[in-house]
Amino acid sequence: MPKVQETVLEINLSALTHNYHYLKSKLQPETKFLAVVKAFAYGSDSVAIAKHLETLGVDYFAVAYTQEGVVLRDAGIRTPILVLHPQSLNADTLIDRCLEPSIYSARLLKDFIATAEKRGQTNYPVHIKFNTGLNRLGFGEQDIAGITEQLSATKAVQAKSIFSHLAASEDLTENDFTALQINRFKTFAETFKRLSGTTPWMHLCNTSGIINYSEAHFNMVRSGIGLYGFGNCDEEDANLQPIASLKSVISQIHEVEKGHSVGYNRAFTTSRKECIATIPIGHADGLSRIYGQKKGFVYINDQKAFIVGNVCMDMIMVNVTDINCQEGDEVIVFDAKYKANTLAESAATISYEILTALSQRIKRIIVGE
Ligand SMILES: *Cc1c(COP(=O)(O)O)cnc(C)c1O
Repeated sequence: MPKVQETVLEINLSALTHNYHYLKSKLQPETKFLAVVKAFAYGSDSVAIAKHLETLGVDYFAVAYTQEGVVLRDAGIRTPILVLHPQSLNADTLIDRCLEPSIYSARLLKDFIATAEKRGQTNYPVHIKFNTGLNRLGFGEQDIAGITEQLSATKAVQAKSIFSHLAASEDLTENDFTALQINRFKTFAETFKRLSGTTPWMHLCNTSGIINYSEAHFNMVRSGIGLYGFGNCDEEDANLQPIASLKSVISQIHEVEKGHSVGYNRAFTTSRKECIATIPIGHADGLSRIYGQKKGFVYINDQKAFIVGNVCMDMIMVNVTDINCQEGDEVIVFDAKYKANTLAESAATISYEILTALSQRIKRIIVGE
């Protein structure tokens, strides 16, 4: 890989292919695979990722907001797209763009049916969301009779699937709670099927669910973070390949005399004569101020350099006093070797957050395949 000369996010499609096949190997051959490409495919590039996954034969996509689905349709994505968190006012757009809503509340069900009927739809696919313990979105057991009644009373929509979401699939100390969620989901599904006289698909597992709860894969699984190379535990991280590498460059190096301050608010003072490198990436790029004050770090020529002082909007300063480097050298914020979750954990957050925070102003470069 040639050294970069500005801040870029490299997106490795070969790594994506590897992760897809690895996760698929955990499934029964008939289990369908939904790729979660919300939030710019976890901060990467939703169109490039979706196009590549389409060539690999993925069954479904999911996004969070309706507008994210519109972007994929504008780019020519033809695979079914589940919108996890639509609003009533999106109903027309959903139908215009062949996007399939998650129906999580009575209000949304009523509004979506009304729009689908007004537009003369028949059997428009919707996905009924159940709350089995996350207490975030979805219907409870007491709602099932009402939902199935409304669905039976219309020809405009049909429940393509019923689904729920696990609260702690990555945390094996919460095994009992996850088992409870799986059992609730099965009970809700049985009731739904009995009352509706239909057999929609069932899906429950996210990436950690795929890995830890093979008995709960049902008809389809929904993977996000695993496709992007993180398994939420060391053992699975070793089987996956991070697809995104965030790289930058040393713009300038200052020799700062002992006792002088560096950066805004004079938040760092040198304790000896020190070399400080300035790098073009800041909180506007998604590297939060949380990483300042020596919490966060980058790698320069395979040596770890800590961020000193406050993270600025468009740059950071790192201490390179004991590091062999010069202006123009490449800087690794994270890549397949120096992993994003390690940097995230230095600031008590998770891979999901640092990836999805990456600003769209960072140039994306597609590599591999
Ligand atoms: C984001 C999301 C997923 C993907 O979870 P990962 O842990 O990234 O695999 C799956 N299902 C729902 C409902 C989600 O919101």
